[in-house]
Amino acid sequence: MRVVKTIEGIREALSSAQRPVGFIPTMGSLHAGHISLIERARRECATVVVSVFVNPLQFGPTEDFDHYPRDLDTDARKSEEAGTDFLFAPATKELYPAPPRTRVTVSGLTDRLCGASRPGHFDGVATVVNKLLHIVSPDRVYFGLKDAQQLAVIQRMTEDLNLPVRVVPCPTLRESDGLAMSSRNVYLSPEEREQATVLNRALSLATEQVKTGRISRADEAAQLIRETIRTAPQAEIDYVEVLSYPDLERVHEIRDQQVIAATAVRFGNTRLIDNVIWPGKEDS
Ligand code: AMP
Repeated sequence: MRVVKTIEGIREALSSAQRPVGFIPTMGSLHAGHISLIERARRECATVVVSVFVNPLQFGPTEDFDHYPRDLDTDARKSEEAGTDFLFAPATKELYPAPPRTRVTVSGLTDRLCGASRPGHFDGVATVVNKLLHIVSPDRVYFGLKDAQQLAVIQRMTEDLNLPVRVVPCPTLRESDGLAMSSRNVYLSPEEREQATVLNRALSLATEQVKTGRISRADEAAQLIRETIRTAPQAEIDYVEVLSYPDLERVHEIRDQQVIAATAVRFGNTRLIDNVIWPGKEDS
């Protein structure tokens, strides 16, 4: 594996690379969730590129950009073990030599769920992913369903802008007690870590009720998830919503279309997200 820090260097390295090229954009602090994306790309592509870049554009002024966990040596070791060919790890100045005046905005999809409490976040994500796709020019780009709204935004951006890349959705990897893996889980105190399992329990309980037909309406499902999360005393709900997926529109009956039950919850200073996608009746 080669670690490359410049745009010119990665373009040069990939100009003679075997295709298809698979690409996994990350913010580093790699865990088994990221590794599952890399391993999938390894199975499907001749060349695998991982980027590690903590993107300042997608952090709000009061968010954890300065404290976001960074450990490039460990990330390099883990990426190499998972079969990465090139690790692209540019400094902030390499991607943003000057404050950018251009933003990519995917309207509609980005003003709800995480977009409502993190204004500008998805513009920052869409902008940096667009830049990275232009730098790496992959055939396939891998994104986790853990960040399902991000995936919907990127999918829509690539369609709207005719970017010549296939977006590959990958399932959420979880700890053995159900907590979705996240680089932010390291912030949790032992007590918060224990209580954070309520997210998966709430989503699983609602899934069960929907599958058995005891719940059929989106508002009932959201209410059950809210009530279950509230049983954890330290959980502070940012949102719980059941919307169509990937369009993220309000829905009434769950079985009329594919929907997402999505939640963001704070435990102390740490904001965690999780979701589950329920297929419409055609697929069930
Ligand atoms: P991040 O480093 O948080 O920007 O994540 C990089 C990629 O890894 C994104 O596509 C995420 O959706 C994906 N990812 C993060 N956590 C998980 C997980 N638990 N399971 C699967 N994919 C994940």
